[in-house]
Amino acid sequence: MPERVGFIGLGIMGSGMTHNLLRASVDLTVYNRTPERMQPLADAGAATAASPAGLAASTDVVFVCVSDTPDVEAVLLGPEGVIHGAKPGSLVVDMSTISPRATRRIAKRLAEAGVAMLDAPVSGGSEGAAKGTLSIMVGGDQADLERARPYLEAMGSTITHVGPIGAGQSCKLVNQILVVVNMLAAGEALLFAQAAGLDLDRTIEAVAGGAAGSWMLSNRGPQAVHRDWRPGFTIDLQQKDLRLVLEAADETGAPVLASSTVFQLYRTLQRAGAASSALARSSSPTTATAARPRRRGSARGPPGRG
Ligand code: NAP
Repeated sequence: MPERVGFIGLGIMGSGMTHNLLRASVDLTVYNRTPERMQPLADAGAATAASPAGLAASTDVVFVCVSDTPDVEAVLLGPEGVIHGAKPGSLVVDMSTISPRATRRIAKRLAEAGVAMLDAPVSGGSEGAAKGTLSIMVGGDQADLERARPYLEAMGSTITHVGPIGAGQSCKLVNQILVVVNMLAAGEALLFAQAAGLDLDRTIEAVAGGAAGSWMLSNRGPQAVHRDWRPGFTIDLQQKDLRLVLEAADETGAPVLASSTVFQLYRTLQRAGAASSALARSSSPTTATAARPRRRGSARGPPGRG
């Protein structure tokens, strides 16, 4: 009998991912802290639950995609958490980006209740979530991955088993180091090109196919040159990922010089109350830094991608 699937967290990522599960004819129940966000899914055919525990009681495999480590802990282990509703033999798949160490701790707690866990953070941004083309980095047991695979394949096009529980999150932090350091390199190179009086489109065209090429330069470079400041990721979520990188690096002793620099640059933008256009301008080759005031906690910016 096909399994019943639950999904907790219908934000930018979760809403796209759940629509793809419905398109794959999955028997889906959703929960979101802000209930109004469940309506489009209910309209598309999903059942809704009143709490994570209630969702877990009526499903076999529970996916989670919420913001940060304390949020995953709240929906899985909190007073109304999955652990209070899940039947032994259930499987939890956490697709949020959170701490690898906390992931191992949460998995241990769930295991004591007979519930298995995979960590399966994603890369590919809101576009990948909407199109079902995410890259998914999975930590945990192979058998659990095979159980989750049909659902993961509805949400992503690259599914890689990278190791035991927590390894998916560590791999996602590797991904985030590459994202931000490539972004720093692309921004610095384009500022240099502008100062040298080069045509920026021709410059990108000239170098993108060679050893200096990167996804960031080819995709976000032209956006910055043409002042396309549509948001791709929030500064606050990017900072959350960099904080996780710095914490994990501190635990392992790995030096992360460039990631630390980018963390401080984003902190400067947060302190300035930077808006989307402010982040874009600060990394733009055509304009000097010019922050427009905006409420802290809602900053968004186009160049990044989780
Ligand atoms: P988002 O749009 O801000 O959505 C966050 C979701 O988490 C919302 O559904 C929110 O519920 C829920 N949530 C947060 N705290 C909660 C709590 N304590 N209890 C219950 N629900 C809670 O974020 P997102 O962009 O979808 O990102 C989700 C995860 O994916 C993050 O870990 C992020 O780092 C990762 N990610 C994002 C991207 C990207 O490009 N956006 C790419 C890769 C990975 P409410 O609706 O009630 O606020």
